[in-house]
Amino acid sequence: MKSEIKVFKFGGASVNSAEAVQNATSIIKMFSHEKLMIIISAMGKTTNLLEKVADAYFQGFNYSDLLKENEDYHLRLAQQLANISPALDITPVQNVLADLVKKLSVQPSGNYNQAYDQIVSFGEILSTTIISAYWKSMGLQNILIDAQKYVCTDNTYRDAVVDWDKTTSRIQTLDFTQNKIFLTQGFIGGTQDGFTTTLGREGSDYSAAIFAYCLNASEMTIWKDVPGLLNADPKYFSETQKLDFISYRDAIELAYYGATIIHPKTIKPLQNKNILLRVKSFVQPTAEGSQIGSFDLEQSRKIPCFIFKTNQILIT
Ligand code: ASP
Ligand code: MG
Repeated sequence: MKSEIKVFKFGGASVNSAEAVQNATSIIKMFSHEKLMIIISAMGKTTNLLEKVADAYFQGFNYSDLLKENEDYHLRLAQQLANISPALDITPVQNVLADLVKKLSVQPSGNYNQAYDQIVSFGEILSTTIISAYWKSMGLQNILIDAQKYVCTDNTYRDAVVDWDKTTSRIQTLDFTQNKIFLTQGFIGGTQDGFTTTLGREGSDYSAAIFAYCLNASEMTIWKDVPGLLNADPKYFSETQKLDFISYRDAIELAYYGATIIHPKTIKPLQNKNILLRVKSFVQPTAEGSQIGSFDLEQSRKIPCFIFKTNQILIT
């Protein structure tokens, strides 16, 4: 049985500035009568920056400039939101930044991947802390949950494997009758012994699919900076076409062969429960976008798709 819950995923580009966060907020307001599970990535290019911090930390190099860049970016963005919504208290954001400093003050363990996950995950913790506080400050009720406590994984750091039984029972404890909007971090999970894991770069789409699967969501929407799923990357092709209806099978094939629009692990959990996936533009939220579902060949128009890969070497 499907629930009425809709799962939304906002990627880094959709929350990379105060204006972008306001835009994402206006999208949420369009759906404010619905039950929403919202998954958010790190803001803008934060993950890349924190990867550099993690590298420097692990190798014993100085990372203070990088850390300052990260702090300035998030504090400036939070302050800009506080200027719009004066009830916004930025103390929780400062607390998260202090937690990161504390984490970096202990010597790294011998395991690079483990250290990486403990640090890089702060991008998502910062973005959700800021956005949840901003929404509360303007009266948009929401509950921020810690994805590490809900997405249960093994300890394959940087590519953690989900324990579906445990994750399902945790996620199903969320009570949407009292609260209609829950918010959490994409990309991250947690091990049984309390370490943070990540699901692989660009893994927030997969996080959203995990929540959609466990909540028996009615549908999931990925809000993107493109009008939908295109038949080719507009970076390389000047004339692209939007695909309106795509079967799960075709979407999996496109993702695995390198169409970078959806994380490859995303489709399977949705397909298993026949949950419709929409890819929509956060710039034009009322436009139709693309739908990925159990469409047959008749419904999915036969448009050829082009995937462009650079730096290939063929060995025979
Ligand atoms: N913030 C992570 C990354 O940039 C996860 C994501 O965006 O999906 O890889
Ligand atoms: Mg990202």
